[in-house]
Amino acid sequence: QSTHLNADSLLWENPAILVQGKPVLWATWVAGDICRIGDVWGPEGVLSFTTLWENFDLPSAEFLHYLQMKHSLSQRRALTPGMLQTSPINELQRTLVGKRGVVSKIYAFLLKKRSPCREGTRKAWEVEFELTFTEDVWEEALVSTLAAGTNIKSRLIQFKIVNRIYWTPAKLSSAKLLDTDRCWRCDTERGSLLHMLWACSKLQHYWTQICTFLGSLVEIDAVDNPLACVLGVGIKGAKLPKGEIRFVKMALVIAKRVISRHWQHVLSPTFQEWFLAMAETATHERVILKVRNKLDLFNKVWSGFLPGT
Ligand SMILES: [Zn+2]
Repeated sequence: QSTHLNADSLLWENPAILVQGKPVLWATWVAGDICRIGDVWGPEGVLSFTTLWENFDLPSAEFLHYLQMKHSLSQRRALTPGMLQTSPINELQRTLVGKRGVVSKIYAFLLKKRSPCREGTRKAWEVEFELTFTEDVWEEALVSTLAAGTNIKSRLIQFKIVNRIYWTPAKLSSAKLLDTDRCWRCDTERGSLLHMLWACSKLQHYWTQICTFLGSLVEIDAVDNPLACVLGVGIKGAKLPKGEIRFVKMALVIAKRVISRHWQHVLSPTFQEWFLAMAETATHERVILKVRNKLDLFNKVWSGFLPGT
């Protein structure tokens, strides 16, 4: 949807901009050369009607349309006041118009578009873990998103965890959105991300049960540590096949998925909930592994969840 909501997106017949449920096309506005979202967007969101009237000679009879447009754009949470994202393609085109050396310019453009810097995120984790990550550890944490299984929701959860996107009591209180930074469950410790996902005393039983159960299914080195359970790092075992490592990583992500269902709740997640979530995933994984002709692997690692397979 973001392709419909950047500065270069057309206002007209745009499926993301609806007035009374439908995309619109207003001839008077087009005649006045108002075409792109960027034309009506300023540092504080939608420009005032007076500004549009001054810049584009928009007739005052269009005021109702203006209110409708303003209302429609304000519904889009992807549009935040301030600078709008430009479309990378249009930006590229603009830098290339009528110029020579096109290929080198494309390269220069692409090199500038590096992935966002994650040093701050890494630092924040290092503070909470009270240790300095080696490059390998941090790399492994970053790719743990991809090892979270085939389920897109699980991948998203791992991504949000590693990138620290969750709102914790600590984060909310430092943003002055909450009076206290105490954990929602135990109400005694500071609710940092590591605490909310792992260190909380109210989670100990949950994690112990899961890790013990996983240890009984596959010959894995102990995973009952926060690096493995939270960041998906260091999950290994002597001669442990890839498929089983993948299974353990997925199981740990599902454990966090169940925790996230209880976000902001006093009640702790339970082993039973995790077990049910695993059984649901098993059905999905069975199809995938069958297609890949690895049903024996499926039976080996998942049989603990599906009696009778
Ligand atoms: Zn707690």
